Amino acid sequence: MPYSALSHLDCPRCGAQRDPGRVQGTCSCGSPLLARYDLELAARQVSPRDIAARPADLWRYHELLPVGDPRYVVTLGEGMTPLLAMPRLGKALGVPNLLIKDEGTMPTGTFKARGAAVGVSRAAELGVRAVAMPTNGNAGAAWSAYAARAGMRSLIVMPAAAPAVTRAACAAFGAELHLVDGLIGDAAGLVADALRRRPGYCDVGTLKEPYRVEGKKTMGLEIAEQLGWGMPAVIVYPAGGGVGIIGIYKALRELAELGWVCGALPRLVAVQPAGCAPIVTAFRAGAAHSEPWPEPKTVAFGLTVPKALGDFLVLGALRATGGTAVAVTDEALLADQREVARLEGCFVCPEGAACITAVRQLRESGWLSAADEVVVLNTGTGLIYPDTVPARAAALP
Ligand SMILES: *Cc1c(COP(=O)(O)O)cnc(C)c1O
Ligand SMILES: [Zn+2]
Repeated sequence: MPYSALSHLDCPRCGAQRDPGRVQGTCSCGSPLLARYDLELAARQVSPRDIAARPADLWRYHELLPVGDPRYVVTLGEGMTPLLAMPRLGKALGVPNLLIKDEGTMPTGTFKARGAAVGVSRAAELGVRAVAMPTNGNAGAAWSAYAARAGMRSLIVMPAAAPAVTRAACAAFGAELHLVDGLIGDAAGLVADALRRRPGYCDVGTLKEPYRVEGKKTMGLEIAEQLGWGMPAVIVYPAGGGVGIIGIYKALRELAELGWVCGALPRLVAVQPAGCAPIVTAFRAGAAHSEPWPEPKTVAFGLTVPKALGDFLVLGALRATGGTAVAVTDEALLADQREVARLEGCFVCPEGAACITAVRQLRESGWLSAADEVVVLNTGTGLIYPDTVPARAAALP
């Protein structure tokens, strides 16, 4: 019985197939490649009941993950984050069945650890000894942590404006860190230059390799398992590069094919800040691709992605599930960040807070009903961005 049911890689745009036994980047047509599994084999080999008996981390789904030999698994205990009911917040928003999947408890503080754990493990298995990536900060922290754990070198390039704590994390994990006075696209340019001079390094930027999305897929697997192999009516996700929502959609389709969930897939909602909303704009225009956002600016730094490589996959997932895309202002999301903390004791990151604002707006517009079970992804801890909340402390009299 194989540890993984991985069968091949294929291109969602042109249909080309690739050998997963070799290091692969994007398809020759430019699209990201996606991992495919022998789901009939997996269905014969494992059941939800087997999975329930396994350790509480994302490797419990190893048949649906790409690592073929458990000796290559690089882990810091990631996954099976809590799916928390939000009764007070839900009541205030008119959505009583509101849940937050809280990724703030992940190693390095964000859900980026999922993609890094699976991506680094699979890279190690394929013989990669060094990885390089442009990042808005959180992915760099996560990938340099897992690279350190794997004994791998990492080269990280991020905007100078990225959250300072992510810089500190990369330095602590021994990454070669470079800052660029610009955006993530400028960082990507520097990484591409460096890679030309360093043949041993593998480009692990967003959707540049096929396995990060497999790690992020586990959010969808966990949501289904935590709801008793059921699905909520709606899943709300803060989209930057969109890897998480692509992964969740992929997970739910694989679970439906396995026969572990049934019924309509949840309506998927992508949330972006008004200061950088290329996917929302494309969704409204009925376009298949987004246009580069001219001057992105938002406190939700992880969402500062002016043009995503996988934009067409995100837009496809929203449309296929009857979902939607919502833009929210920084002012509104910062107010909701405090509201979640005050009402529920949960300090969400600005990206997660943006999803709460989106729920508020979608309930007001009637797109959400009071009966809908809604799962919001809080993609990281608020502690990464301490400056988003003004802390006034009066002296004791
Ligand atoms: C990277 C990031 C996002 C966006 O994730 P994508 O998979 O790129 O869409 C959201 N929230 C946080 C905290 C992030 O670091
Ligand atoms: Zn292709």
